[in-house]
Amino acid sequence: MDTNERLDAVIVGGGLAGMCAAWDLRDRNVIVLESADRVGGRLRSERRGDNWLNWGGHVFSGPGSVTDRFLTESNTTAKQVGGRLASVNLNGKTLTSGGIETFPFRLPLTLDARISLITTGLRLRYAVWKYGQVAEPIPGEDPADRQVRILGFRDNESFSDFLGNVPRDVRDLFSATVTRSSGETTEVAAGYGIGYFHQVWDRKSGLSRNIMGGSATFTQNMAAALGDRVHLNAAATHVEQDKDGVTVRWTENGTEHEVRAAHAIVATQAHVTRKIVAGLPEDLQAALDFIRYGPYVVGAVLTNETSPMPWDELYALATPRRSFSMMFNTANARRTGETGGRAKGGSLMVYSAANDARALADVPDAEIAERYRADLVDIYPQLRDVIEDVVIHRWSHGTCYPRVGRSKLQSTITQRTGRIHLAGDFLGTWYTETAAATGAAAARRVREAS
Ligand SMILES: Cc1cc2nc3c(=O)[nH]c(=O)nc-3n(C[C@H](O)[C@H](O)[C@H](O)COP(=O)(O)OP(=O)(O)OC[C@H]3O[C@@H](n4cnc5c(N)ncnc54)[C@H](O)[C@@H]3O)c2cc1C
Repeated sequence: MDTNERLDAVIVGGGLAGMCAAWDLRDRNVIVLESADRVGGRLRSERRGDNWLNWGGHVFSGPGSVTDRFLTESNTTAKQVGGRLASVNLNGKTLTSGGIETFPFRLPLTLDARISLITTGLRLRYAVWKYGQVAEPIPGEDPADRQVRILGFRDNESFSDFLGNVPRDVRDLFSATVTRSSGETTEVAAGYGIGYFHQVWDRKSGLSRNIMGGSATFTQNMAAALGDRVHLNAAATHVEQDKDGVTVRWTENGTEHEVRAAHAIVATQAHVTRKIVAGLPEDLQAALDFIRYGPYVVGAVLTNETSPMPWDELYALATPRRSFSMMFNTANARRTGETGGRAKGGSLMVYSAANDARALADVPDAEIAERYRADLVDIYPQLRDVIEDVVIHRWSHGTCYPRVGRSKLQSTITQRTGRIHLAGDFLGTWYTETAAATGAAAARRVREAS
């Protein structure tokens, strides 16, 4: 590219937030700088014939969401996840049917644990109901105000404080779901943890769709429309504004570049944004420092079964005290509305999060794959002969989870910063929906200013 021309905008980061911003500005003179050799960031999947393996974000917001608009405009097909979201394997028993209120009576538990699961379950039910009231959109309100309300819900204590002193089985059962945030229950704000159960127990409330062909299809479709304006292996090193515009420096395949633009949209993770953007207000720098991302080790599992399997009807299975905390049936959407018999094969995704992932730091991928495979077969013996591949991916910065006290930062972290516009999931709590919405909002501000 001719680095002497002045661009309308440079978009730093080709994850979902950056790609959505670029998509909305595709009629303008823009470029996208992505440090990796592919777009998508934490949306990572690969096709395997009619199946796909998935290592990152997998469930997306439904109709009426900002994500939905980008899916439609980019011609990306998403299907409702039909499978059950609340299932559990504990102490050798797998429950994938019946109401969750029946679980305390059906799981093999000591009397103590059984009573505690009933009382904790009731307390959680009430908290989820309260959360639902707080999270209910108010007609005509700015989504940012709703976000502040949600962040503020029980933000002064951790999920572990909320649980209190409960027997190990009960703690592990709830932890398996809450560590899905990649934070430990002692770190994650109680309200945020309760929000997880709201999503699992109330399918309408949010993340409920899978992308056919795998999540990465979404960002790949947007990248295809942008063509060579997307620069891969292009790591931004410096973004700075002055009164006339923005200067962005980056290294692309070993060569240094610099460009001037009217605006920059910085859609990198919080800690990267903090490092590469010069001159951010001090309170904003401190807020970016507060954001935490936890680690994951993810196993994507390809299967080649030719007949219906017992996991066909479920999407998520919590697996406390296994080598992984949760199993997702990432091929579940392939079964939605399936006619003419069950298509061959499928794919599963399992993960270890937070401290469980840290504990695997020195364990080779092959050994982790073996542990995952052994536990999968133990839960579902039908998997013994149909697992074709287990591919491990490690995320050092998985998802950003609201820590206790996160709500106090919201106005600081979302403040306007002139010609540099921040985007990314760390600006809110709705993961891919926050990424898409903040990317769209940044693009809108660029348009409004020019
Ligand atoms: C295992 C896992 C499961 C998840 N499950 C779900 C789910 O089911 N539903 C859901 O909604 N969300 C889920 N998430 C979270 C979701 O994936 C993220 O919220 C979302 O993808 C974040 O998008 P983003 O654009 O904000 O950030 P990212 O995807 O992190 O994008 C940032 C981009 O910036 C690039 N970058 C970094 N530094 C530089 C630099 N110096 N110069 C240029 N580029 C740079 C990165 O390579 C990256 O591509 C999951 C995440 C993980 C890891």
